[in-house]
Amino acid sequence: MELERGVGVVGISKRPWQQCSGAVDQKAAAHCTDEVERRCPWIAGKKVAFVAICLIASPLLIFLFCRRDWPFPSKSGWSSPATTYTPHAIAESKKDVLLGGLLVPGFDERTCRSRYDYTLYRKKTVRSPSAHLINRLRAQEALQRRCGPGTAAYRRAAERLEYSRRNDTGAAAADDGGCKYLVLVPYRGLGNRMLAMASAFLYAMLSGRALLIDRGESLADLFCEPFPETTWLLPPEFPIKNLEGLTGEVQESYRNLVQNHLPAASVSELPYVFVDLDHACTHHDKLFYCDDDQQFLHRAPWLLMRTDGYFVPAIFLNPAYQDELDRLFPRKDSVFYLLAHYLLHPTNKVWGLITRFYDSYLKNSDERLGIQVRVFDGDTPFKHILDQIISCTSREHLLPEVLLPAQEPPLTTPAAGAARLKAVLMTGLNPWYYESIRWKYLQSATATGEVVSVHQPSHEEHQLSGNTTHDMKALAEMYLLSMADAVVASGWSTFGYVGHGLGGLTPWVMFKPENLTTPDPPCRRAISMEPCMHGPPFYDCRVKRGADTGKLVPHVRHCDDMSWGLKLVHPE
Ligand code: GDP
Repeated sequence: MELERGVGVVGISKRPWQQCSGAVDQKAAAHCTDEVERRCPWIAGKKVAFVAICLIASPLLIFLFCRRDWPFPSKSGWSSPATTYTPHAIAESKKDVLLGGLLVPGFDERTCRSRYDYTLYRKKTVRSPSAHLINRLRAQEALQRRCGPGTAAYRRAAERLEYSRRNDTGAAAADDGGCKYLVLVPYRGLGNRMLAMASAFLYAMLSGRALLIDRGESLADLFCEPFPETTWLLPPEFPIKNLEGLTGEVQESYRNLVQNHLPAASVSELPYVFVDLDHACTHHDKLFYCDDDQQFLHRAPWLLMRTDGYFVPAIFLNPAYQDELDRLFPRKDSVFYLLAHYLLHPTNKVWGLITRFYDSYLKNSDERLGIQVRVFDGDTPFKHILDQIISCTSREHLLPEVLLPAQEPPLTTPAAGAARLKAVLMTGLNPWYYESIRWKYLQSATATGEVVSVHQPSHEEHQLSGNTTHDMKALAEMYLLSMADAVVASGWSTFGYVGHGLGGLTPWVMFKPENLTTPDPPCRRAISMEPCMHGPPFYDCRVKRGADTGKLVPHVRHCDDMSWGLKLVHPE
């Protein structure tokens, strides 16, 4: 890694004697051991002088190293925690490169740089994984290896599925090695798909299933393999085709099973059970969230699931998983953060996009603000949305005010020290918002004397989900948002949820405008960094009747941006 080599040269981690050796004449030094040193007093003298210089200079050096990371209090309360490239940060990062045990060692680093290098771009692990989560992840990896594609167990299970679809009972008894599978069909935009993958992974872990992903058009080009020595991509020869076309209408659907009160035993006779968890699925589909898996679904060797969002809050409402979830996630507000950093590592191609943009435009700033603009009313620019962004960043003191043309800018001379640099990373399909804000800070000086630079990596104009290059840019931008110190995100957007969730950042959420009008207030600080579940159940599993699911347990509440949505919070 480039950066680590740089540190070696700086030598801050070396002990003083190692650093000083380069300062003396090489030939003399070769002859001057400790014993001989007494006979080489000029070297001893130099060392004394050097130590004295080090002592005098060290406070200054410490100040300079810390300068970029100094937690200058700002009115908004967000300061610059990113410590990219400082020796201290890199030492910390090396220590925490596996995110406190979240990631398993042993992958070839070159095949997936993001897995190891992400910590160089973020201060430190925002939340550490619990020991129990680490154990369960290692167990899941073993399960994926034992049951995954290419194994005898997978071949037998796939054969059994094929035979059972053809009603060929001869093969139904074939031994599948105790392997059960969850095949996920993630769909819609990339944010939706990433939330679906994190949710399905948690469910697979809880239910002892190997997770396989329908790769669609682009997923294989976007993400590294998360499990060592196996693949999580569903093989193309999987017996059931057109997975995206499955709906809750099919005979094998969970909806059909519960609607028709089919007995639990009938589950074992089905080739698979299909669970439709679209955000707009029916009450009967959502009863899946109450299934305690001991009664019903554990009988199905193949579970096929189609979902477009984050359903983790609903799993937290199921009493059957409560104890286990408490042990896995003692803190309830960082479930997505941990799952996503375990599972979703950008491929080297995407990582190149991310790091090159970061190094070019964001690295040298003192603070980085991410602004994610997602417009659901159309792809053309809207004035009320620009007003909302400006009003939110101003009211929350996230960006400085600008001076009126007649006002004199505060005097900043090189002698007075460089002005504080704020970089704004904007993401959006349309460049107009970015251009307007950029122009605002080019046209006028800031009242604080800060320098504000504004950047937007792409402007794709229209959503083209499934197109590989388009999805790569989207993934790169979600990751770039996660590297900011603070994020302002558009309500209702899964793109935004992933961006701030990956960064462990509690965002300022901009409310979704109604009637093309800027909402008042324009935004507010969210109650947690977790994504919002858009299609939650309205049913209490314990008492088996309808309920306000945002009020059942203290750690599942309604979202800031969607009054019926659910999100995890950590009750203080
Ligand atoms: P959501 O629709 O806001 O919930 O987010 P999704 O990520 O699920 O779907 C929106 C899709 O539109 C993204 O995946 C991208 O394909 C595209 N898109 C939306 N906003 C942006 C953006 O800021 N940058 C880029 N590159 N693509 C975007």
